[in-house]
Amino acid sequence: MGSTASDKPHAVCIPYPAQGHVNPMLKLAKLLHHLGFYITFVNTEYNHKRLLKSHGTAALEGMPDFRFETIPDGLPPSDAEATQHIPSLCESTSKTCLVPFCSLLSKLNNAAPEVPPVTCIVSDGVMSFTVKAAEQFGLPEVLLWTTSACGFLGYTQYRHLVDRGYTPLKDMRQVTNGYLETILDWVPGTKDIRLRDIPTFIRTTDSNDIMLNFVLSEVEAVPKAKALILNTFDALEQDVLNAISVMYPRIYTVGPLQLMMNHLHDERYNSLSSSLWKENSECIDWLNTKEPNSVVYVNFGSITVVTAEQLTEFAWGLANSKKSFLWIIRPDIVAGDSAMLPPEFLTETKERSMLISWCPQEQVLKHPAIGGFLTHCGWNSTIESIAGGVPVICWPFFAEQQTNCRYSCVEWDIGMEIDNNVKQDEVEVLVKELMDGEKGKKMKKKAMEWKKKAEEATAPGGSSYMNLEKLVKEVLLQ
Ligand code: UDP
Repeated sequence: MGSTASDKPHAVCIPYPAQGHVNPMLKLAKLLHHLGFYITFVNTEYNHKRLLKSHGTAALEGMPDFRFETIPDGLPPSDAEATQHIPSLCESTSKTCLVPFCSLLSKLNNAAPEVPPVTCIVSDGVMSFTVKAAEQFGLPEVLLWTTSACGFLGYTQYRHLVDRGYTPLKDMRQVTNGYLETILDWVPGTKDIRLRDIPTFIRTTDSNDIMLNFVLSEVEAVPKAKALILNTFDALEQDVLNAISVMYPRIYTVGPLQLMMNHLHDERYNSLSSSLWKENSECIDWLNTKEPNSVVYVNFGSITVVTAEQLTEFAWGLANSKKSFLWIIRPDIVAGDSAMLPPEFLTETKERSMLISWCPQEQVLKHPAIGGFLTHCGWNSTIESIAGGVPVICWPFFAEQQTNCRYSCVEWDIGMEIDNNVKQDEVEVLVKELMDGEKGKKMKKKAMEWKKKAEEATAPGGSSYMNLEKLVKEVLLQ
């Protein structure tokens, strides 16, 4: 590969504009940069503004041959600092982003001499309009699906589920009347998977439902790309990966990406940030004062919303467990309301809790004080937890979180599920079990075994390490 910028291969990396997608894409972009690529990383204008507000220009500068560009997301301009409405964002990116993205590619190809011509596109799997741009510009394109392999497999079943009449549902009451317990014994690579374990966008009665149709069309685009990349590792999801590779032979598992980051020794990579909220690092100092495996970490990611009642049930469950806890409560976690916690709860738990609105999660999950994670099962959170050897209590919210919950509890033996209709007594019992019980000990042991396997996969010669090299040689440099 060339040593001056202008001879370098030039990858344009474009994530779907939500936190759980921008994070893994930035990691992949850093790895490609480390392997000699010139990188253009494309954020939406909305997220770009948020990154600047949270971190200043430092988050986007300082690494030579690693540049940031923006395109509009097609939604009305907003100064809010909150997660955008997902169906609106999916509809808008798929309908409006192709034109500005193509203009950006043309601009990059006609930029200053030190900017090499674009040689490949690395796109989020759910930004598949980019496949059309790749065709137009004659570029190879690869898709990063930021899901687990099991979640991705679930999405690939949507067409069959529609054809077989499972979705759209006949009646929304089917969500609670036992219909979701139906076992789908024909899904390859899985055992006893139920309709309830399939990503949740099938839970609609509307054949025009935005998310149902969005998934159908994004999955259809996968074979048009040169390769599929997943942030997982072979040992974790072998059966599922075997089933997926029958459908899509060119699949590259390169995760856990955060462990792959250990190969980047240049400090300047750390300054490039994708966190849309400003992280409060005081929690690390607080964790430093705690005994190993003594703290429960509670975080529901960037999109989940809860009701005021659910928040209160979690609060009292945590209080009654008598355990120390670090609870991340986003300002927008309660839909349409500010997150209010009972004053008695705050007084009672003051000595053994820390409540903040956003944290450096990867650092938290690596911290020896963390004994367990109460999570919404977003894939990044799950794989970060596996990489940290931390067992989980699962409270899945939507999308493929239900699939991740199923695999955490049944296949990987690192999790226990809380009923969707959360009650404080169940939270208390499960937190105590996680931290002190026999089941908790077994889950911790299993989580540590997965951690070791994840480290092996990402070490030189490991499956993920080798797959990244193969991706570059077999696809991106072709
Ligand atoms: N995250 C973080 N700090 C927080 C909460 C989340 O850094 O306080 C990061 C987390 O490490 C993960 C991402 O945000 O990389 C959330 O992605 P995930 O897939 O778990 O859930 P989503 O937000 O997409 O529901």
